[in-house]
Amino acid sequence: MRHLAIIGSGPAGYYTAEAAQKQWGDDIRVDIFDRLPVPYGLIRSGVAPDHQSIKGVSRRYEQTALSENVRFVGNVTIGKDVTVAELQDLYHAVIFATGAPNDRPLEIPGEDLGNVFGSAAFVGWYNGHPQFTDLAPDLSGKNAVIVGMGNVALDVARILSKTRSEFEGSDIVAHALDALAASRLEQITILGRRGPHQIAMTPKELGELARLERATPRVDPADLPPEDDDAVLEPGQRKSVGHLRSFAAIPESERADASIEVNFAFYGVPKALKGEGKIQVVQVAETELSGGKLVETGALYDLPCDLLVSCIGYRTSPIPGVPFDERMGRFANDEGRILPGLYCVGWARRGPTGTIGTNRPDGFEIIEKIAADMESGRLDTGGKEGRAGFDRIAAARNLEIVTFRDWKKIEEAEEKAAREGAPREKFVKIEEMIKARG
Ligand code: NAP
Repeated sequence: MRHLAIIGSGPAGYYTAEAAQKQWGDDIRVDIFDRLPVPYGLIRSGVAPDHQSIKGVSRRYEQTALSENVRFVGNVTIGKDVTVAELQDLYHAVIFATGAPNDRPLEIPGEDLGNVFGSAAFVGWYNGHPQFTDLAPDLSGKNAVIVGMGNVALDVARILSKTRSEFEGSDIVAHALDALAASRLEQITILGRRGPHQIAMTPKELGELARLERATPRVDPADLPPEDDDAVLEPGQRKSVGHLRSFAAIPESERADASIEVNFAFYGVPKALKGEGKIQVVQVAETELSGGKLVETGALYDLPCDLLVSCIGYRTSPIPGVPFDERMGRFANDEGRILPGLYCVGWARRGPTGTIGTNRPDGFEIIEKIAADMESGRLDTGGKEGRAGFDRIAAARNLEIVTFRDWKKIEEAEEKAAREGAPREKFVKIEEMIKARG
């Protein structure tokens, strides 16, 4: 029997478990650990609450989770409750599918001012991640600045723009829904350090900005390159830039009813954040592309700002004893291999890129590598105790394990508590989750 420990129950974790089942059938036991009592990682706490169809993929993970040879072990932090070395003694392979839950810092003066957040924290707040429940962003000011032009920046801009009724059918948590409904924001600036051709936003998501009740996107036509230049772009990017062009063409008469403007500010990078305790101004350095390279022109301007959300990417959490690539913010690895018996997959392997689906081939690849390592003798295949050994440690340490069956009770309680039309009202505190399992 082969024993695998997967750390992290998000898409990368479950796709890897699914791949292990396909590879070894009955000859495998997989334990999927998570520091939270609830599974699914980014599906629960990263995917926007108004993108429910994307969240539906968790039904596929549930099929894997409910099979005999895969087990969810929630509320256990590896590196704190149990060490990596202990897991390595018990399992043939330990696979980190821990994602990239920490914000990449801007590394500029003033980053510690009030009402300045990274997207992991801000998205975690509106998605009910227990770590960020108490974030309490102040939405009483007029001006928000979002740094970065990726899909996370788009999610944040859209969530900040929506009215209460536009959240119908979403699972945005009550504390965020109430705060957003009382927001006084009028201007949301999405600040990008490069130009329209270099945005990292995908067309479907960008198109949603044009269909908001009280917000209208604005692009200055002068910022757009000549239309013929779009021909060099790959089709998806051309579509995205097409959306920017249509935003630039919205007539002023159609803007009259909008109480929020979502403005695209290209070629600017934040240099310093200023304010008395709380952010008031972003000092922006103008940039340009010179031979494809980003350079500052030397010109500076001030952007009023009452709330700043930085959406510039994420870093994986290091774990004591596991080699880490500081520069890339992920585990040091060679195509998923970290050290003999230690592997990584998903964002923990490749950094925060790609869609949820990208993690499926990733999961299958890492299992192929583990199988090859077992075959070649690089990985020991005998004498491991697996889950029975873990259960002994857990009992000796009084760990409060949450099983998949417990999760189903938590899920049922969340579904029962849902406001009308919503799929669930999430518990936002770990104690509440544990209590709900009965
Ligand atoms: P991303 O796509 O990598 O975008 C990051 C943005 O931040 C880029 O515009 C980047 O500009 C900018 N940036 C990076 N460092 C910066 C700095 N120091 N100063 C100023 N700007 C900086 O990352 P993301 O938006 O966090 O998304 C992560 C992944 O999740 C992506 O693959 C994304 O597509 C995916 N995602 C998908 C969805 C969806 O499909 N609905 C939703 C959310 C996220 P440069 O291009 O100049 O580096």
